[in-house]
Amino acid sequence: MKRYDAIKKIIETVNDEIIVCNLGAPSRELYDISDREENFYMLGSMGLSSSIAFGIAISQPNRKIICIDGDGSILMNLGSLSTISNNNPNNLTLIIIDNSSYGSTGNQKTYTSNKTRLEIIAKGAGFDSIIVIDKEDQIIPALENLESGCHFVLIKTQPGNAKVENVPLLPEEIKERFRKVIS
Ligand SMILES: [Mg+2]
Repeated sequence: MKRYDAIKKIIETVNDEIIVCNLGAPSRELYDISDREENFYMLGSMGLSSSIAFGIAISQPNRKIICIDGDGSILMNLGSLSTISNNNPNNLTLIIIDNSSYGSTGNQKTYTSNKTRLEIIAKGAGFDSIIVIDKEDQIIPALENLESGCHFVLIKTQPGNAKVENVPLLPEEIKERFRKVIS
């Protein structure tokens, strides 16, 4: 399974959830699979999608928030895991698609290709609910069985980006329509 396949399965479980998506290839793939006003496509600020999703989760406690992040991005913002788990929002699912590579910059290997295990880091950061998935058909049952809470979901995939177009929306358009849908 590649990242594109994983996002496709994630989207099959989504209704009106807010999705904050990591920049670059993941956002392009999400746009290609299912553009929605509830999608917030990161265009910069690498590493901060989990922090932004957490901020939305605590300010919108009645909405369900999904963050689609990557291994390279979360590795550069590991402090976010402690911030999230200690504040324990009841409405946040942090999904890390771990393809062991910096997909958007040429598939250079990340340290999860070697010794680093993100699920163990998440455990140490204080997450109680940790799910590791390495098969495509596990994604929908795993996500559909999640109750409200603060969840860390690691999906292991192969490296590689789908051949999809850029997100054609201007940054202002993404911001304005997203602001409208969460207000
Ligand atoms: Mg990656």
